[in-house]
Amino acid sequence: MKIIVLSITPYKEKDGIVNAISENESLTFLARGIKDPKSKNAALNNVLTVADIELMDGNFAHPILKSSKPLFSPLKVDMDAKYLASLMTIDEMMLNLFPEEEKQTMFPYLEKAVESLKNTNDWLMTLLQFMAHAVRIGGFQLEVNRCVLCGRTNNIVTFSFNDGGFICEDCYQPEMERDLTKEQMILLRKIVNCPDYRLKSSDYKNEDLLLLFDKFTHYIEEAFGYHFKNMRLLIDSK
Ligand SMILES: [Zn+2]
Repeated sequence: MKIIVLSITPYKEKDGIVNAISENESLTFLARGIKDPKSKNAALNNVLTVADIELMDGNFAHPILKSSKPLFSPLKVDMDAKYLASLMTIDEMMLNLFPEEEKQTMFPYLEKAVESLKNTNDWLMTLLQFMAHAVRIGGFQLEVNRCVLCGRTNNIVTFSFNDGGFICEDCYQPEMERDLTKEQMILLRKIVNCPDYRLKSSDYKNEDLLLLFDKFTHYIEEAFGYHFKNMRLLIDSK
């Protein structure tokens, strides 16, 4: 069974209780020897590791890890602070935004996010796209293809995170947000409509990406009722 590790809770001296998702479910299991660097299960002691595992029932509250084969590790030689903080933020979202029984719906987007982050080192666009997927899967889809209030597709004048999408000229009210430039609205539309992780930060203005990152962060906090704890590590030195 292919899994992605989300958290490891130390248990006894060298064991760990692992929380993970597979493509079909969220699961918790005991991994013996996971804290021992020489153990064949040691690779599982890093969050966001993808592995093929086999579980067995034993004399324990959770299933026990029988065997594991690492398929992908987020670790690499040149990990800078932003890279690590991005991994932490992705993992934080997985642990806190979704109920236990719904986490697995994020599996394909999570797997591709970590691969994309490792391969491109593009923390900003990877996180923006991951956030857009999380927002959609979480049921808070933003409307970027028509006016969110009346459905028309022309004369769009603003994007309102409060209302959840584009607003046309006729529906616009003076108290609505109107702080994104046309360029920023087009970029937001591309991010929300992107089915995977194909967008690259280098094709856009850094200030636009950072502004949207800030908007997405606040939108997620509001929509999911969650306050980010690791975000400071990313935005303090932007
Ligand atoms: Zn409208």
